[in-house]
Amino acid sequence: MNVPINVHGNGHPDEPDVLSDEHKRFMDEHKRFMKEAIRQAKKAAALDEVPIGCVIVCDGRIIARGYNRRNTDKNTLSHAELNAIRKASKKVGDWRLEGCRMYVTLEPCQMCAGALVQSRIDQVVIGCMNPKAGCAGSVLNLLQMDGFNHKVDIISGVLEEECSRMLSSFFRSLRARKAAAKGETRNIETV
Ligand SMILES: [Zn+2]
Repeated sequence: MNVPINVHGNGHPDEPDVLSDEHKRFMDEHKRFMKEAIRQAKKAAALDEVPIGCVIVCDGRIIARGYNRRNTDKNTLSHAELNAIRKASKKVGDWRLEGCRMYVTLEPCQMCAGALVQSRIDQVVIGCMNPKAGCAGSVLNLLQMDGFNHKVDIISGVLEEECSRMLSSFFRSLRARKAAAKGETRNIETV
């Protein structure tokens, strides 16, 4: 298939409004697993990390979870997706994640999209897109390049609002705290 699918439709006026039962069941499953990815993202937020989380599902079960720990681990490689890929490979005893699907709250970056192609995972389900850094179709689509030997199916827009709100409220509170800290410094300086 290899055409990115947005669950809110791709702007085609002839798309049916009424979803089939099978599609509804599929959407319910996507939402259920995306909620688990959101739970992981909240673990990142609790550590003052940018809230990004993901889960990897195989045969209808979660086999690995991950969340962003870049500052905590002081490691560029500690993105949610890579943390989950590492755990999933350990669990299945193989670097290949064929037959697996990742649910991630934010569109993967170039590093994680590259790792997803390398892992030969079947599909990535994305919460919200990342226009400035995403590599599943925003900046570029590394998951579906013609030159590579593996392409990853993309479904985007699952619990999009919730995923995007979580990020914007994190950055809003970060800005507020920074402003407050600046204010405090100014107060100290003027004492
Ligand atoms: Zn990444």
